[in-house]
Amino acid sequence: MKKKMTALREVLSDFRSDYSLCGKCKLCQAVHVQEVDYGRFWRNCPSGTRFRFEAYYASGKLEMARALDLQEIEPTPAMQHALYTCMLCGSCQEQCYPVKQIFPMRVFELLREQAVRDGWGPPEEHAQAVANLEETDNLLGRPQAERGAWAEGLDLKDASKEKVEALLFAGCHYSFKPELQEAARSAARVLKAAGLDLGILGSEELCCGAPLLELGDRDFFETFGLENIKRFEASGAETLISLCPHCSWVFAEEYGPEMEIKPKHAVQVVAGAIKKKQITPAREVKMKVAWHDPCRLGRRLGFYDQPRRILSSIPGLEVVELPRNRHNSLCCGNGGMAGYAFPEFGEWTAKERVFEAEFVEADALVTSCPWCEEMLRRGAEARGSKVRVENVFSLLEKSL
Ligand code: SF4
Ligand code: SF4
Repeated sequence: MKKKMTALREVLSDFRSDYSLCGKCKLCQAVHVQEVDYGRFWRNCPSGTRFRFEAYYASGKLEMARALDLQEIEPTPAMQHALYTCMLCGSCQEQCYPVKQIFPMRVFELLREQAVRDGWGPPEEHAQAVANLEETDNLLGRPQAERGAWAEGLDLKDASKEKVEALLFAGCHYSFKPELQEAARSAARVLKAAGLDLGILGSEELCCGAPLLELGDRDFFETFGLENIKRFEASGAETLISLCPHCSWVFAEEYGPEMEIKPKHAVQVVAGAIKKKQITPAREVKMKVAWHDPCRLGRRLGFYDQPRRILSSIPGLEVVELPRNRHNSLCCGNGGMAGYAFPEFGEWTAKERVFEAEFVEADALVTSCPWCEEMLRRGAEARGSKVRVENVFSLLEKSL
């Protein structure tokens, strides 16, 4: 029998009490309103706010999950659209769980797995992503031989050939997209400045599989997971440092129980290095910035303080909060593979987030997720906004 990555596999029917308990109270449509001063920013479910029908909010999708699970209805293209425009941002769960102990986002993840098993998901807009992963082992369909090229000249060890203390996992976007590679280079230089014995797998690094899990294709995800674990452990590294929160999420929640190596996101490592004075930002960076909490880094993994500690250590930097911050954060528009399949919807969401940065008169939105960086830049461009989108390590490096 094929080894499973998780000891216990959850299925949709395990969550029958969740979808049955939904009282249609609609708390899941908004932020914690007592924490956000402006009514303009209370709505926080991107798919519901954009498409307006009940099915696009958590309450509607829970009803859909109930009726499909109990085989009262057959899936339709409209249901597929409602399910796959969900950004899996977790804002609904943030609201619902404390009041009703319901996990709406977990239900939607499992409904996607059910959709894949039953043959009605993912939508054809995702076909290219899946084909790329099948043919090239990376999301972008690029030759794996080029995967380590972003790190040329950085003097990082080849972890597929020699032992390293810390293995840096760049992920598909930072590895291949020229507009994002400089952020990965900054992160690597900052980590080296902190004294880490750092290596990469280069062309031996595969996709982490997170996009497949988000689409609901758990079996295909696990083929990546099991192979990655083998490669990580062969490196002999003690720590696995990822730059993308989506990689960090699957490493922590899905690979974690199977791995000896300790997964961390780079913001954890760098915030720790600043605290221990292994690196000391000294040069002034005169700018007013707001931190955008990526959904996977914040609501999913709980890393709210670490990036803020990095920003507050930079001399000259004025750090302000967006009205929707921390657990009230708005998705960038690229969550749950929704922005990949429905780019106009993604851009619509990103424009709303950029407007929020304009509202607090920030010069830049700072973040640490390639999906967010990409979609927020798109939103800023579409708005003709002066707000720039910066990577936290690129900003930090300016002050070192
Ligand atoms: S999902 Fe939760 S918060 Fe939303 S309507 Fe149902 S019970 Fe209320
Ligand atoms: S996960 Fe996000 S986009 Fe999906 S229903 Fe919940 S709040 Fe809306």
